[in-house]
Amino acid sequence: METKQFKAESKRLLDLMINSIYTHKEIFLRELISNASDAIDKMYYKALTDDSLSFDKDKYYIKVVSDKENRLLKISDTGIGMTKEELEDSLGTIAKSGSLAFKKETELKDGYDIIGQFGVGFYSAFMVAETVTVISKALGSNEAYKWESQGADGYTIEPCEKDSVGTEIILKIKENTEDEKYDEYLEEYTLRNIIKKYSDFIRYPIKMDLTKSKLKEDSDSEYEEYIEEETINNMVPIWKKNKSELTSEDYERFYFEKHYGFDKPVKHIHIKAEGLVRYNAILFIPEKIPFDYYTREYEKGLELYSNGVLIMDKCSELLPDYFSFVKGMVDSEDLSLNISREMLQHDRQLKLIAKNITNKIKNELLDLLKNEREKYEEFYKSFGRQLKYGVYNDFGSNKDTLKDLLMFYSSKEKKLVTLDEYISRMPEEQKYIYYASGESNERIDKLPQTELVAEKGYEILYFTDDIDEFTIKVLMSYKDKEFKSVSSSDLGIEMEENENDNSSNEKDSKELFEYMKNILSDKVKDVRASKRLKHHPVCFSNDGEISIEMEKVLSTMSN
Ligand code: ADP
Ligand code: MG
Repeated sequence: METKQFKAESKRLLDLMINSIYTHKEIFLRELISNASDAIDKMYYKALTDDSLSFDKDKYYIKVVSDKENRLLKISDTGIGMTKEELEDSLGTIAKSGSLAFKKETELKDGYDIIGQFGVGFYSAFMVAETVTVISKALGSNEAYKWESQGADGYTIEPCEKDSVGTEIILKIKENTEDEKYDEYLEEYTLRNIIKKYSDFIRYPIKMDLTKSKLKEDSDSEYEEYIEEETINNMVPIWKKNKSELTSEDYERFYFEKHYGFDKPVKHIHIKAEGLVRYNAILFIPEKIPFDYYTREYEKGLELYSNGVLIMDKCSELLPDYFSFVKGMVDSEDLSLNISREMLQHDRQLKLIAKNITNKIKNELLDLLKNEREKYEEFYKSFGRQLKYGVYNDFGSNKDTLKDLLMFYSSKEKKLVTLDEYISRMPEEQKYIYYASGESNERIDKLPQTELVAEKGYEILYFTDDIDEFTIKVLMSYKDKEFKSVSSSDLGIEMEENENDNSSNEKDSKELFEYMKNILSDKVKDVRASKRLKHHPVCFSNDGEISIEMEKVLSTMSN
């Protein structure tokens, strides 16, 4: 029998799993059960789209059996099974979600917690097993195959016997060591708890043979043991439950279970819509930027279910780009299962759902801003940029959706403020919303151009993000107040006649200014006496459409 080697990156993940000192090794069961459930989903989907197949719900289940004596734990399913090739491809090569975790290898080493929250997949079995055996028969195939591996040394595949379609995963559980207890993964009680904890919402029954005891017949003191098969999980998916039945922990667990992220979401949104289009949705606003968020690999989208069956992993039509950080799922009875991606783009129901969801997210964010300011600011630090891009790429209504969610650093408050807050503090005579652009708050503090506006007692918004100025150029005004750069030549501020009136200086210095202008001929348009300076001798100002800072950004962009 030939022993095959794992692909290089699989091997590294495998090593990581085998040598993991991660304390929540129990998640291996969650991973194997979720694979079993996926395999049954595939079967169900096939039956729905293929008339020659039928799906009898009772025939589909997952079973967990422990054999303490031989230290074996078996997880079997009646799912779609794997062919010989699929066994090689799926188990010999790292799977997608596994590779995600893999990219974060450094984090895995430093923070073992992340393993538990990420989709580490099939290989997690090696955290508790010295040998993993997979026996599988694929739908439509007459042969069954046995895949077996002890970890790093590779794996073998050979034909074997199996009556029914499906997969059996058999784990030979490791012996206890001084630091690690593996025995518990053979205990009914522990297994039951692990299933409840992580796999309660799996839509197919997860069965176990539980040992029970009852009074012996004709006796009132002697007990006898008997075995009864029981379904451990609740099965009703979380999104079909009533909000009142669910705790924040339930939602968080769902977030981890679904591998939406490894942070703790800032907010969950549970929607049960009964209107024009019926759907359930659970959405999450993450706290941290996903590590691939600003890369090309990042795909926005929500999981799309049609009446409980997953039809698409990342349905991008459901989210506008400016909310691309939102994670979650939508389940609707009104969508056809046979819908294709092209059809989805034009689907009226889907468009309605998307619109509805966008509104909901906006309102929840406003609510967060109003009632949990600190959390909102955390969120804004992570995703504010995305909102600003949203305004910048305005397609009709983006501006309206997003303008109240924007925040900028304020010269007065020394923290992030909303435009609404800015307006509400404006003295009556103030005409514009003033802003200053620069590399950092500290730099802007020192800008001579801010002096006059600040002296007037007006608040200045600091634009340190390169997108900021573009954003407000598109926004143009907020509550009828236009934006004005502190470096524009007309600040709209009434000048008082005082010692700063340098009209006489203007004449006296004419020669000097001409001289300066000559020297700086290709660098400045004009040299003038300024009324705006208090403590600084000189500053730049411009009459153009954009500020000097923005010109800098544009010039770096065009390089
Ligand atoms: P993921 O589930 O994220 O794809 P896994 O490492 O958990 O990654 O699983 C790898 C692949 O192995 C799955 O995508 C699937 O194709 C296959 N697989 C694993 N377990 C089963 C099973 N019980 N039945 C059918 N296929 C399975
Ligand atoms: Mg999996």
